[in-house]
Amino acid sequence: MVYVTSFRCFRCSRQYKPEEIEKLPIPRCSNCGSALDAEYDYSSIRKIILRDDFMRDKPAHWKYWAFMPVKDLSKIITMGEGGTPLLENIRLWKKGRLLIKYEASNPTGSFKDRGSSLEITKALEFGKRKVALASTGNMGASVAAYAAYAGLECTVFIPDIVGKEKLTQIKAYGAKTIMVDGDYSVAMTEAENFVVSNPDSFLTGDYPWRSEGTKTLGFEIADQLYWRIPDHVVVPVGNGTLIWSVFEAFRELVLVGITDRIPRIIGVQVENCDPVVHAWENELGEIIPVKDPQTVATAIACGDPIDGLAALRAIRESGGEAVRVSDKEAMSARDMLASNGIFVEPSGAVAYAGIIKKKLAGTVVAVATGHGLKDMIGIK
Ligand SMILES: *Cc1c(COP(=O)(O)O)cnc(C)c1O
Repeated sequence: MVYVTSFRCFRCSRQYKPEEIEKLPIPRCSNCGSALDAEYDYSSIRKIILRDDFMRDKPAHWKYWAFMPVKDLSKIITMGEGGTPLLENIRLWKKGRLLIKYEASNPTGSFKDRGSSLEITKALEFGKRKVALASTGNMGASVAAYAAYAGLECTVFIPDIVGKEKLTQIKAYGAKTIMVDGDYSVAMTEAENFVVSNPDSFLTGDYPWRSEGTKTLGFEIADQLYWRIPDHVVVPVGNGTLIWSVFEAFRELVLVGITDRIPRIIGVQVENCDPVVHAWENELGEIIPVKDPQTVATAIACGDPIDGLAALRAIRESGGEAVRVSDKEAMSARDMLASNGIFVEPSGAVAYAGIIKKKLAGTVVAVATGHGLKDMIGIK
């Protein structure tokens, strides 16, 4: 059932066998510490995928199981994630055809559920009873829910930026919360240290498993457009995992012969936390971290993005671009979406704000990542 052949480092290109990665407490390159990308046996996947029923079946997260590293499909942990609507409200955009991938309709209200479904499935496959992670809120809520559903204990390391609705949601699922004195990067280091000293715990977060699960967002966009490729897909960038996963999904569809091109992938960040935009504008090969970022878009306040290099590659290889918007523009985009029936948190409106800023024409997909009920800042 598993078509993963190897993992490759984003920075130094070192290759690993899947068994080597599965043994690591922190699944990163042991040579240079960078993020890893899974590689598959695409000719085998192709045999499964190029069938009429696959092409016609309703889009849903586990429909794309062949592109995920799961050994036993009878043991997956799923709460009905994915299969989210691609909304079209013509009042929102006049310069092109705007479609909004509304990820708020996932079980815990954000796209993070796609990655969590796969991560918790892997935690069980590896025989773990506990999970731990650092989170700006949504991933914590998502992993806490899936862990609780599967009967696993969950510990969340929480940086100082997390809002009260998200903290409440994490606690509601019964997760243990540890407040960290510092930003997301500090919380991440604490979560990683925790897993190294607690070997019965499985580290969830923006590591290869999550990224493989998040790809289904990209598969669904193509599927919902009857396998026609849009001109632009616009995505908010925090750690960069989402944008990489969306790019990877479109790339894999080309590799298995379903589609013949990749859309321009556009990454949007906010002014006070823009390390990927900065690297893109200055054509850098490394990401320069931003310390203690402060923004209303708390879900993308990742000053030192784990998948920053991957995000850059997605933007460059797709001929896309990186865009910076202000907090004010993000809030105004949030209000505009909400007043047209689509309620998202500030980070969920950043893609739409980027589309307005760049006046994008053609068929444009905005990924609206998280539910408005999660952070109602500024609503009177
Ligand atoms: C996690 C998250 C993002 C950013 O995703 P990354 O994979 O960290 O780049 C954007 N919006 C919301 C609502 C999120 O929860």
